[in-house]
Amino acid sequence: MNPIKKIAVLTSGGDAPGMNAAIRAVVRAGIYHNLEVNGVMRGYQGLIDDDFIEMKSNSVSNIIQLGGTILKSARCKDFNMPEGRKIAFSNLKKHNIDALVVIGGDGSFAGAKILGTEFDFQVVGIPGTIDNDLYGTDYTIGYDTALNTVVEAVDKIRDTASAHSRLFFIEVMGRDAGFLALRGGIAAGAEAILVPEVETDMEQLENFLKHGFQKKKTSSIVLVAEGQKAGGAFTIAEKVSKDHPEYDIRVTVLGHIQRGGSPSAFDRVIASRLGLSAVEEIIKGNSKVMVGVHNNEIVAVPFAKVFKHLKGLDARLLKVVEVLSI
Ligand code: ADP
Repeated sequence: MNPIKKIAVLTSGGDAPGMNAAIRAVVRAGIYHNLEVNGVMRGYQGLIDDDFIEMKSNSVSNIIQLGGTILKSARCKDFNMPEGRKIAFSNLKKHNIDALVVIGGDGSFAGAKILGTEFDFQVVGIPGTIDNDLYGTDYTIGYDTALNTVVEAVDKIRDTASAHSRLFFIEVMGRDAGFLALRGGIAAGAEAILVPEVETDMEQLENFLKHGFQKKKTSSIVLVAEGQKAGGAFTIAEKVSKDHPEYDIRVTVLGHIQRGGSPSAFDRVIASRLGLSAVEEIIKGNSKVMVGVHNNEIVAVPFAKVFKHLKGLDARLLKVVEVLSI
């Protein structure tokens, strides 16, 4: 007999397109497996504020195509404190919740792991972040959509850059990881990409750009991940402009457009698959695991393993940028 009767789902931390598709999948998979499902509003804040709502199949009708999250997301300082988590747990018990699905990034999983350990409570994570920076899954929900947003924006900037023979530094999201910058840069044909994982050699970059201008490139685009160690796009642009006042330099920070929009088909599909698997993991009795996709197979990875390893950038992709931007 399945001891699990009722589960809850929440979205936490940075929002990402496709979170709604994941909520829908958790709710419908839960109902399919004869479970009651609650949604918790505003992530861990809603656990503490006792903001639970009953989810039926039609509660998630017509949301697969929506960006954002119908359950809303939040950052919750109180959940970092044992007193806050105690209240959260007592509310989970009050609603007879047997297990919790957390859709979010590594911070949200850190919170889930502590809750699971402190109260011996069943928690499963679904990776939802545009940064794709979680070890144990090839893709996170929202990354593909954000990537397409980056490429679309860079294409548009390229039009105006080449009309004026300008050099653009475009900043994309990625405080700790350069996945968006790397794949976005390849797909948009950027001349160079600067990522947190690789130390930036300013002299090398300037020589490279000079070479491009000497070859009469009509435009140059450098994608800068926001967490790049030598500084953001404005800082890098300033440094280059000091040495090369002859360049017509512009800076664009793409900012929050990268988080919004209707999720891509790819994100909707992985969100649907991961939502179903999260419920299956719960029914199997697993806890403190993240469900992920590896080589197109669904995997369950212990949170401890997710935290222990850094997901490195694919060196082969870095080479692609280097070779194709000559
Ligand atoms: P993300 O999940 O996108 O990485 P955050 O890092 O902002 O987002 O984390 C989301 C929330 O998870 C935090 O506001 C906090 O409530 C909770 N959280 C993060 N780290 C911890 C931790 N070490 N202990 C308890 N809760 C945490």
